[in-house]
Amino acid sequence: MEALIPTYSRLPVAFTRGEGAWLYDEQGRAYLDGVAGIAVCGLGHSHPAVARAVAEQAQTLVHTSNLYRVPLQERLAERLCAASGMAGAFFCNSGAEANEAAIKLVRRYASGRGIERPRIVVADGAFHGRTLGTLAATANPQAQAGFEPLPEGFLRVPYGDADAVAGLDDDAVCAVLVEPIQGEGGVRIPPADYLQRLRRICDERGWLLMLDEVQTGMGRTGTLFAFEQAGVRPDVLVLAKALGNGLPIGACLAAAGYAEILGPGSHGTTYGGNPLAARAALAVLDTLEGEGLPAAAARAGEALRARLAEGLAGVDGMAEIRGRGLMTGVELTVDASALPRQALDEGLLINVTAGNVVRLVPPLTLSDGEVEQLADGVVGLVRRHLAAAAA
Ligand SMILES: *Cc1c(COP(=O)(O)O)cnc(C)c1O
Repeated sequence: MEALIPTYSRLPVAFTRGEGAWLYDEQGRAYLDGVAGIAVCGLGHSHPAVARAVAEQAQTLVHTSNLYRVPLQERLAERLCAASGMAGAFFCNSGAEANEAAIKLVRRYASGRGIERPRIVVADGAFHGRTLGTLAATANPQAQAGFEPLPEGFLRVPYGDADAVAGLDDDAVCAVLVEPIQGEGGVRIPPADYLQRLRRICDERGWLLMLDEVQTGMGRTGTLFAFEQAGVRPDVLVLAKALGNGLPIGACLAAAGYAEILGPGSHGTTYGGNPLAARAALAVLDTLEGEGLPAAAARAGEALRARLAEGLAGVDGMAEIRGRGLMTGVELTVDASALPRQALDEGLLINVTAGNVVRLVPPLTLSDGEVEQLADGVVGLVRRHLAAAAA
């Protein structure tokens, strides 16, 4: 580990194998996975459909570059467009890159409309990635510190506050970029009419509505995309994380009228959407649809939060339990950053964001028994943590 640039302070465990919602360490000890590689392994570990598709593709063709047609990439684009109502897709390798593509697309859109120094409205608490552009869009002073100068062109407003967006009086604004539910920001859920109101504001002003569904997409919140639950459609949709179930792939999709903005030579990527990654993503889509996993996630999430609420009712130091589908936050009134380490000792993988929010983003394939086991594990951990904090 000394040979690694120490960008992560890692938990002292290494996994050698995974199956479904379980990971196994070098000693063969089992861990129930409430993290799923940070909302990436939505189908669980080693899902046979993905494993088969990847193995087969690896023996057939892995990479050719985007100098040539890539039929699997074309098929994936058609499937994602059909499912989302978008008209075109650009594939890359991560969430940050997909957001970069989205930012470049709307800047081109603005420049075509004569806006010279366009600005994109972003939210407090937002996370959009770690590249310089997406870091500037991200609202985390700690993550930004020391990396200045960051690209300009972002205008920050409070999250969930459509009035703040409506109140903007700035001719340079060309788009609004938000997460339907903030993930890294602490599983923050905006008011029910937030996306609808943003949609209306964007329509009135000729701004583009960009949704970063890198974390909320691919069934995580109980529908394939979180925006479906708001009854609106974005102009630009950003996907990654669970799209490849662990194979690196991101996508920037654009609605009709905007998909042609990035023409030949305007943007690119060597790997993006290569046959291996595209094949994995097609297997993910087939499985999500074939096994009805978004709806299963909706049911499992309700059961998980009900059991958490029951186990943590009346406990001093509890702030809120919230979520949609299998994206759940358990907010404490005290710091929770020690919990993932303690959970590890108990054979449980959890994650903490925003300092005091236990974030649970397990595989969407969780069984009823695993839901109960995850909830009971978290209840025990949180109860002991809060009792110790109060003492
Ligand atoms: C994880 C995440 C990203 C960044 O994705 P990377 O693949 O780490 O670059 C962007 N936006 C959201 C909402 C995310 O959760």
